[in-house]
Amino acid sequence: MQKETQKDFLDPAERKTQQTLGIKQAVQYAYQNSPYYRKVFDEAGLKPEQINNPLEFRQVPFTKKNDLRGAYPYGMAAVTLDKIIRIHASSGTTGKPIVAGYTRQDLDDWAAAVARICAMAGVKASDIAQISFGYGLFTGGFGLHYGLERLGATVVPFSSGNTERQLSLMQDFNTNVLVSTPSFALYMAETAIELGYKPAEFGLKIGLFGGEPCSDAMREDIEKHWKLKATVNYGLTEVVGPGISGECEERAGMHILEDIYFPEIIDPASGEVLPDGATGELVLTPLYKEGFPVLRYRTGDITRLISEACPCGRTTRRMDYIAGRSDDMIIIKGVNIFPSQIEEVLAGFSEVSPHYLLVLHKQKGFIKDLEVQIELSPEGFSDSFRQLEALEGRIRQRLRSTLSLAPRLKLMEPKSLERTTGKAKRITINEVE
Ligand code: ADP
Ligand code: ZN
Repeated sequence: MQKETQKDFLDPAERKTQQTLGIKQAVQYAYQNSPYYRKVFDEAGLKPEQINNPLEFRQVPFTKKNDLRGAYPYGMAAVTLDKIIRIHASSGTTGKPIVAGYTRQDLDDWAAAVARICAMAGVKASDIAQISFGYGLFTGGFGLHYGLERLGATVVPFSSGNTERQLSLMQDFNTNVLVSTPSFALYMAETAIELGYKPAEFGLKIGLFGGEPCSDAMREDIEKHWKLKATVNYGLTEVVGPGISGECEERAGMHILEDIYFPEIIDPASGEVLPDGATGELVLTPLYKEGFPVLRYRTGDITRLISEACPCGRTTRRMDYIAGRSDDMIIIKGVNIFPSQIEEVLAGFSEVSPHYLLVLHKQKGFIKDLEVQIELSPEGFSDSFRQLEALEGRIRQRLRSTLSLAPRLKLMEPKSLERTTGKAKRITINEVE
């Protein structure tokens, strides 16, 4: 493990050299072994010999989500299926699932990568970690499972659901690390309080949260309830799953395991590569993947690369917290809105809970109207119509000044919006005639 961890502290010049070699090898490998990429290169009139450094790598066409959908189920394979020993698929949050296949080597590399992410967050071999991510096609459960085992932690593979039992076992087992989506961590705290537990007394020390955005407000809420240190990490099925980037104890962005994944930020409209610090769409290339390699995958996630030194001493660049997915961006009356912007406004009101739902009323494919359903917190709930109306007015005003647009608001009773044990559902579409 120590040898693995050292990779985070490598001299940046040395890492650049290795990255260049990695890029060349990824291109060669894909060209020689993946019929999919052989075709992409041939159609672009490109030969692997032309790609010798990160700059030349920009000639390689992007791979998009739809390309992977088109290759369903095994079109991205670069090995014969007998070498694939595991299949996962994306959870399909934004459409048809995408399949990923792993060779034995891929699974071994993945476990090592996730172990590094967990160590970076402060998890130790002596810790007891409960995994409340779903086990199954979703990469979250198995990804963290093997990573934490590799680290030497004691893994409690609970999976999602059955919140009451999760809580009682967490207490019995002296669990001190919790792995889940941030929204589920919050939901578990709410349930614990309802059942008469005191979440702060559980003894949780570290939260490893991922799979969806975690706003500052949400993080604060989780920490306040559980008295743990909340860390976030990032990944996606198309590239590997979790284990691409994660926070160190400084919690100032997520360190990317740059020796394994080559990151680029592009302007989502023009495809132009942007310099460090500029916000755009994250493009990732796993450098050593055998089973289903991908080159320059457009993640759809909007972020920026941070190259300033981190106080922790790691030399890997960090990525900023994800502002939203480009396919979650709502364009209404010419205004671009990310759900996270609305979430931030709502977080400024103690009368509302962190639970909300955006209803897009669509007509002929266009968004006609945006409705924000906002759940009141138990303290914010009132029988007085006038009070509620005043609250609605204040929220509307704040939303209007942030978004330059006033959505329709609907205040909901406490605990009336649906909770999930996985990724929170923030957007729903209503087709109107
Ligand atoms: P799906 O696209 O079906 O949700 P995945 O389970 O592979 O499939 O999820 C990957 C996506 O989840 C990422 O592309 C990103 O949008 C989101 N995600 C994962 N981790 C984080 C994180 N720490 N912060 C924000 N979003 C995240
Ligand atoms: Zn750091």
